[in-house]
Amino acid sequence: MGKLLSIVIPAYNEEANIENTAKTVLAIADEAVIPCEIVFVSDGSKDDTFDKIKRVSRMDARVRGIEFSRNFGKEAAILAGLATGNGDCFVVMDCDLQHPPQTIVEMYRLWLEGYEVIEGVKRSRGKESGLYRKLSNLFYGVLTKLTGFNMHNTSDFKLIDKKVAQVLLQMPERKTFFRAMTFWTGFKSCQIEYDVAQRVAGETKWSSGALIRYAVHNIISFSSSPLTIVTYIGVISLIVSFVLSIQTLVRWISGSAIEGFTTVILLLLIIGGCILIGLGLIGQYIAAIYEEVKQRPRYIISKDTHGGDNGEER
Ligand code: UDP
Ligand code: MG
Repeated sequence: MGKLLSIVIPAYNEEANIENTAKTVLAIADEAVIPCEIVFVSDGSKDDTFDKIKRVSRMDARVRGIEFSRNFGKEAAILAGLATGNGDCFVVMDCDLQHPPQTIVEMYRLWLEGYEVIEGVKRSRGKESGLYRKLSNLFYGVLTKLTGFNMHNTSDFKLIDKKVAQVLLQMPERKTFFRAMTFWTGFKSCQIEYDVAQRVAGETKWSSGALIRYAVHNIISFSSSPLTIVTYIGVISLIVSFVLSIQTLVRWISGSAIEGFTTVILLLLIIGGCILIGLGLIGQYIAAIYEEVKQRPRYIISKDTHGGDNGEER
């Protein structure tokens, strides 16, 4: 018997994809003779996602699923899957087959060779609008600068060893960022390129507002550099104001002080704006700290296909 591979698939309102995804993934694993299990994590879906998971789980004992009591987000779903699976290694992939399942076979081979983290890196980004591409490049550029890891074109599609999964699960923070945390753990890693496919069925679960919140949140939770930047801006404006005050004083003493009403108004507005941005940024960090100190559970499981005595949900 080879080593067991757990495939963790977060699914939020993916009723149209569950069956097809399970079949496709299992067929590929069978062909490559990889012993595997699938752990679907329904992230508080409002459609029949969990019923679909139950159905495939009845047909194939290698499929298991849990359901959250409400939507806790993809990060929480990933962690729940890592905590539930019994594998010697874990693959995390999307439910819409945008992450080509064929790549899992290569990832598994690399893992057998001794790599502990196999990062899926996007070769091409599939169909996206120009603005979306620019914004996501900006996001990854900022992340790369702040975290010190090359985050360009990284994704949540990766294979990690059981050891790495244990480390991630033991990290005490409530808000996690799976994509960057595997870099941070520092295990022996390698990259594998893949082409992002089209979503098979259903729609993307991310609105643009949600994406912006996701970007801001992840930057804040992974780095405190923005606070340093605010401090630098403060120092620079202090230096500028020092120079300006000397000039103003000299003019006043020499009796040639100009009216300068416009300058005063503009300076007030600019400095006021900077102060507010600085305060807001500090507020973001305080909010993040507040979320963490509450120590609420990351997710709540309401149903499990392996839950009850008869293998039904609890
Ligand atoms: N997802 C999730 N919880 C959420 C949003 C998304 O578990 O709150 C899952 C979703 O079902 C999918 C994966 O995360 O398996 C990626 O989502 P999606 O395909 O909508 O994102 P995109 O590929 O458009 O970035
Ligand atoms: Mg997708």
